[in-house]
Amino acid sequence: MPLNGYNPVMANYEKDEAICLRVINFSETSQVVTLFARQAGLLALLAKGSRKMAKAGTFSLGAPIDQVARGEVVYIPPRGTAELGTLTAWNLIDYHPAMRKSLPAFFAGQIICEVMMMLLSGQESHTPLYDELAAGLAALGGSQTQRLFLSIAKRILISTGYQPEMEYCLVCKAPVRPGVPAQFGPQRGGVCCVDCPAESKALRVDGGVLLALARLPVPSTLITAAASKPAAAPAMRAAAMVLIAAIETAADRGLKTRWALEALFGKTKAL
Ligand SMILES: [Zn+2]
Repeated sequence: MPLNGYNPVMANYEKDEAICLRVINFSETSQVVTLFARQAGLLALLAKGSRKMAKAGTFSLGAPIDQVARGEVVYIPPRGTAELGTLTAWNLIDYHPAMRKSLPAFFAGQIICEVMMMLLSGQESHTPLYDELAAGLAALGGSQTQRLFLSIAKRILISTGYQPEMEYCLVCKAPVRPGVPAQFGPQRGGVCCVDCPAESKALRVDGGVLLALARLPVPSTLITAAASKPAAAPAMRAAAMVLIAAIETAADRGLKTRWALEALFGKTKAL
């Protein structure tokens, strides 16, 4: 009996855990989902029938899959030159209810999904990043949403090979100091002093912001650590600007959800 056009006897089923990064409705009943799977990395899958309710005796995933949700996935990988595999089961693990009750946290989740789509390439396993992302998303909506967002964005940059230098000037190697302005150059991937030649797109930012960002722990540590005094709002915004500039430069395109940064970090001219 063919299932979604495949012979289940011949099909090569894979099982993984995944976070849904993007959902595109396809036809009246289906979705194309891009998942970040713990073992497999990026997966683009056709979820046939996921938008219709199951009728007795018919195959259906039963419910639409939501962006940012985490679940167990069973899928058939794409064959040959096909771009899409087939999703055959999705068992929800975490819908992230706290994130969905807070608008800033919800926007943080949306931006993180886009950043993942921008920086990840397919067929690369990023298991440590997956675990940090899962921990971070689960805690969005709590008291540390801004710091968690910064920590997740930084972790994505590091895991995908774009770790920015934030503690020493790339030109003269002088240490960055709190209270002293510095210039962050996204093209060069790091900081330089105000007296050293900077790239044209460099952002002027206080050294203290860069040092705090450099020392910001990974999400799983941030969640378990005793809450320290949060940084002032302008420092948080400046830190977000630094990371977003690094992300946009690494991906060579602008962030489409950039507008959502205002809901997360407040309104500022530079954002
Ligand atoms: Zn310098």
